[in-house]
Amino acid sequence: MADKLTKVPVREQDPQVRATNFEEVCLGYNKEEAMEEASRCINCKNAKCISGCPVSIDIPGFIKEVKEGNFAEAYKVIGKSSSLPAVCGRVCPQESQCEGVCIRGVKGEPVSIGKLERFVADWAKENGVKPEPPMPSNGHKVAVIGSGPAGLTCAGDLAKLGYDVTIFEALHQPGGVLVYGIPEFRLPKDKVVAVEVENVKSLGVKIETDVVIGKSTTIDELLQNEGFEAVFIGSGAGLPMFMGIPGEISSGVFSANEYLTRSNLMKAFRDDYDTPIKTGKKVAVIGGGNVAMDAARTAKRLGAEVHIVYRRSEAELPARVEEVHHAKEEGIIMDLLTNPLEIFADEDGWVKGMKCIRMELGEPDASGRRRPVEIPGSEFEMEVDTVIMSLGTSPNPLISSTTIGLDVNKRKCIIADEEYGQTSKEGVFAGGDAVTGAATVILAMGAGKAGAKGIHEFLSKK
Ligand SMILES: Cc1cc2nc3c(=O)[nH]c(=O)nc-3n(C[C@H](O)[C@H](O)[C@H](O)COP(=O)(O)OP(=O)(O)OC[C@H]3O[C@@H](n4cnc5c(N)ncnc54)[C@H](O)[C@@H]3O)c2cc1C
Repeated sequence: MADKLTKVPVREQDPQVRATNFEEVCLGYNKEEAMEEASRCINCKNAKCISGCPVSIDIPGFIKEVKEGNFAEAYKVIGKSSSLPAVCGRVCPQESQCEGVCIRGVKGEPVSIGKLERFVADWAKENGVKPEPPMPSNGHKVAVIGSGPAGLTCAGDLAKLGYDVTIFEALHQPGGVLVYGIPEFRLPKDKVVAVEVENVKSLGVKIETDVVIGKSTTIDELLQNEGFEAVFIGSGAGLPMFMGIPGEISSGVFSANEYLTRSNLMKAFRDDYDTPIKTGKKVAVIGGGNVAMDAARTAKRLGAEVHIVYRRSEAELPARVEEVHHAKEEGIIMDLLTNPLEIFADEDGWVKGMKCIRMELGEPDASGRRRPVEIPGSEFEMEVDTVIMSLGTSPNPLISSTTIGLDVNKRKCIIADEEYGQTSKEGVFAGGDAVTGAATVILAMGAGKAGAKGIHEFLSKK
């Protein structure tokens, strides 16, 4: 029996073993462990964890059911607020949300809310428990652009209310970043993502893949010619940024998005797929966020020596502490306070190295973090054969440039209000990374819910 101050530990694959495979790192709780961890929740009257959750899951409510062994009931409680619990239980930054405000965290460790959510969702899948059926059809047709967490959540919430919802997805598989970005070893695609997408489809949502809105058709055409009465845009922020340094166009330089898409969505890591990917002997990943950690850990599993090259120090790494910890455990080398200046290529145009410079931290900048400053004369060369740029992403302007009257800000993010996702165009709502820029799964889901609420209000008045 664990003491009440610390979480029931969760089983994980051994770091040496997992660095060579794509199986899930975290193995999750079994029934007994979940019930024991649930018993640490003191069921606060004024539960801060609920307001710490962007989709307001009744956390003490579902944990109470887990404590008593009523797992199907726990699934029902979560299902009232979230259509993607197995995903959120795995990838949400709980430490800065629900668990960050858990009262247990004042004198010890917070309740392991994420792992309990994951347990409930996995249990429901193993036991064939399905989401609650939707209300009867109300005859209104709604289009959703993008099948990431924002689009899936908006579509699911509207379908539950009886709307006839079609999702249009540019890629050949639904899920957005959940399928093309986050690696298999953190979020299994068949076992988890596909199951939650099927659950949304079981509410009656149709998903049309390989449809690029802005090319195949436009939002204006959907509204004017296809009988859709409202549209939700959840098209994400998939356009990668680059440094603009010499040599960046060499072969063997990838954006993290391309590298991860080849591996995750197009299964380059599997022998039975012929998607090409450059494994590399020595790989530099430029950047220090969660995406950089995912790219680095993927390159490691593909057999390379991997260096994270980041211009600030460890304290400023934007990645989750757990991700940095896992990366280090797996043998990723951290080249901190280092910035690339140029990429060198061989006579065939393939990367053979980088010129870098050492950095030190100066005064805080507008973000409050200390500004990295070059140390004159500290240039050095680093031999690498693959470079993965992980410097952030922004929304693709395709949709905004092909939709009449849709306003965007200077970062090309669609302007939409937080409460209802209303954009500058009547009948068009938006949310998720397309509005905020790159953020998190749960924030995108919150925005999908807001969009569904906005569309419901808009169409109820028609
Ligand atoms: C590698 C990586 C790791 C991450 N790890 C985490 C994590 O651990 N935890 C976390 O909370 N967040 C994480 N994030 C961030 C999180 O995944 C995103 O914030 C979230 O997926 C945004 O959801 P969304 O629905 O707005 O957009 P997306 O998930 O990007 O989905 C948008 C969808 O719209 C489609 N689309 C785009 N344009 C069009 C068009 N013109 N026509 C039709 N379809 C279109 C895209 O193909 C895509 O499927 C990670 C992101 C990346 C890239």
